[in-house]
Amino acid sequence: MRYYDAHSHLHDKAYDADREAVYKRMREAGVSTITIGTDYAESEKAAVFAADHDGVWATIGIHPSDNHKEEWDEVRFAKLAKMPKVVGIGECGLDYYRLDADRAIGKIVNRDDEIDRQRYLFEHQMEFAATHDLPLMLHGRPTKGTMDAYEDMLHIFGSAKRDHGDRLRGDIHFFVGDTIIAKRFLDLGFSMSFTGVITFAREYDEVIRYLPPDSILLETDSPYVAPTPNRGKRNEPAYMIPIYQKMAEIRDTSLDDLIERTKTNIQRTFQVD
Ligand SMILES: [Zn+2]
Repeated sequence: MRYYDAHSHLHDKAYDADREAVYKRMREAGVSTITIGTDYAESEKAAVFAADHDGVWATIGIHPSDNHKEEWDEVRFAKLAKMPKVVGIGECGLDYYRLDADRAIGKIVNRDDEIDRQRYLFEHQMEFAATHDLPLMLHGRPTKGTMDAYEDMLHIFGSAKRDHGDRLRGDIHFFVGDTIIAKRFLDLGFSMSFTGVITFAREYDEVIRYLPPDSILLETDSPYVAPTPNRGKRNEPAYMIPIYQKMAEIRDTSLDDLIERTKTNIQRTFQVD
């Protein structure tokens, strides 16, 4: 397989009607993927789907803001972590983007309590990943116009790195930070991944050109953010190719070089083969 989609949700209900057809198109396009869990039930679905399908791996974890009811259950997740193609923990992290909107509709009561809840979930998963020597698939989304969620994640990693060293590693999925934030994640040894948004928005070009070639991954984040020419439709891993093409163009490198480097990068961080 030539292309690696570092972050999709192929087990998601968006594909319940035609998942095997979507999987078949992915394989015909030469794409492999990691399907990402967002709570316990989704993580179990991801792990089961990966176990049954070549070219699919899974991560298990709890998204910071998708499921407000779920609490971290170490015992249940430890069982899932033993499944054969589970290659990471997440997506986990901090999402401050909707805090004010969620408070306005009564989904959360107050900002500080919600941040505490997210931090608690994130810190448990970070410890769990280090204990099990698995990489993290990280989700960070700051309040609009700020870098606040990234700042807080970096602060948490700063002290955790002293305890865990190289066991603490992974990828910042759907990276939307600037070069200053990118540099700080690089210093901690993390890679950053980019979605189909790069095919139609130019605001990430600067950070994409700034990053060294061994610290970049690509992803579809299917079923979300389909690249041009399928923008606005349901996304799927087979649409990985225009994202590679655009990334090669932005970085002024050959497609073959990007394919080789991305493969090396994803195999180094997540043990996919
Ligand atoms: Zn995701």
